[in-house]
Amino acid sequence: MSASGKRTAKVRGMKCPICGRAAAADCRPFCGVRCQETDLSRWLTGSYAIPDDGPPDGYE
Ligand SMILES: [Zn+2]
Repeated sequence: MSASGKRTAKVRGMKCPICGRAAAADCRPFCGVRCQETDLSRWLTGSYAIPDDGPPDGYE
């Protein structure tokens, strides 16, 4: 029974701009790769202000 295994180091005083959690040293200013990619995709799609819930239903 192992616990969480590896834990990502957190950066004190820095918050992830996506979810507001503590930033990870490896991915700062984001908390992790997931938020890092979320931020990137928002910039790429030009919809930074819109929550990223995946592509629209009728996307072709
Ligand atoms: Zn985050």
